[in-house]
Amino acid sequence: MQGKDLLQLAEQFGTPLYVYDAEKIQSQFNRLTKAFSKVDKLRINYAMKALSNVAILQLLKDMGSGLDTVSIQEVLLGLHAGFEPEKIFYTPNGVSLEEIEEVNALGVQINIDNLSILEQFGTKHPNVPVCIRINPHVMAGGNTNISVGHIDSKFGISIHQMPHLVRIVENTKMNIVGIHMHTGSDILDIEVFLYAAEILFDAARNFKNLEFLDFGSGFKVPYKKDDIETDIEELGKKLSKRFNAFCEEYGKDLTLIFEPGKFLVSQAGFFLTKVNVVKQTTSTVFAGIDSGFNHLIRPMLYGSQHHIENISNPKGKERFYSVVGYICETDTFANNRRIAEIKEGDILSFHNAGAYCFSMSSNYNSRYKPAEVLWLHGKGHLIRAHEKFEDLLQNQIPLTTETTI
Ligand SMILES: *Cc1c(COP(=O)(O)O)cnc(C)c1O
Repeated sequence: MQGKDLLQLAEQFGTPLYVYDAEKIQSQFNRLTKAFSKVDKLRINYAMKALSNVAILQLLKDMGSGLDTVSIQEVLLGLHAGFEPEKIFYTPNGVSLEEIEEVNALGVQINIDNLSILEQFGTKHPNVPVCIRINPHVMAGGNTNISVGHIDSKFGISIHQMPHLVRIVENTKMNIVGIHMHTGSDILDIEVFLYAAEILFDAARNFKNLEFLDFGSGFKVPYKKDDIETDIEELGKKLSKRFNAFCEEYGKDLTLIFEPGKFLVSQAGFFLTKVNVVKQTTSTVFAGIDSGFNHLIRPMLYGSQHHIENISNPKGKERFYSVVGYICETDTFANNRRIAEIKEGDILSFHNAGAYCFSMSSNYNSRYKPAEVLWLHGKGHLIRAHEKFEDLLQNQIPLTTETTI
């Protein structure tokens, strides 16, 4: 997919518009599978919260992916997209016992991340196969530095609580089939990740009926030039070897699971916006676009830097711009960024717009959410229409004559 294709899609479908390149999703999926080809039983569960359009889910299903979900609504969307319940994994945090029971009744693998619910669920349903989410308290701190931080993290059951966890499992005679971790931080240093894996193996030795080990995600993709990227091939080589040795020790071929979101879809996405106004002030030149943090909140929420390209004038002379939105809040996408000279009406393309972009969008300022297009076999397929005025009114109940003052 090239700049001219994106420009044509912006013209055909209008802006603001999200575009996803199916081929890129496929190549990332293949890359991960290949890196772990030495592991007999590998499963990739796409973390759908990154991008949950049903067409994207269908695409990943066809590639052979499973699904990682964090809410019952995501489970329902996955089933709707055609995933078998056995291919869906449910990894919530802080949800009610009732929701976990409902998801279990759908035939989906549940993952429990606190001792209170574990004890309640195990007491009521001792035969249900359950996965446990542990918190290894590992995070990367510089290159070779391993710090046991994250003590305040709300995720998972602390490994320091292992004696209590084992006691609950013994008392309830519940059936633990998997151990899971997902630290949520970027894997910048493979040695740190392998160190966390050892903690997972240690935890696994406490349970005799395991079927899988789930290493979560944290694969880092580059957002801007010179960004560090997880060396998947290196990780694959080292972790596969260690995992296979553990299986031998354990006496069983376990399944190795990963749940990447960002790695699979981030770089496949482009967000196309139109420049409404170029505004010169005493200190800067603003390019004001037909979008805001209602459509792409990552730069304001986490300070993420999305590369921005002027695809209407790709060869133009570079100048400094502040790219801002049209929302009545400070919604700066880029500060003092070098971009090829911008004219009003130009189309700006935001890179890495596949993960946590549309899925975090809202109707703030009563703006419509953008449309989504899948680029497949050299053609753009509309997979979500632009919203209309009726969409803003849906579920709203106006006052009637009886209820007015
Ligand atoms: C969000 C999430 C992921 C995906 O993380 P990425 O950084 O997008 O790869 C995986 N597992 C769980 C449990 C998550 O909550």
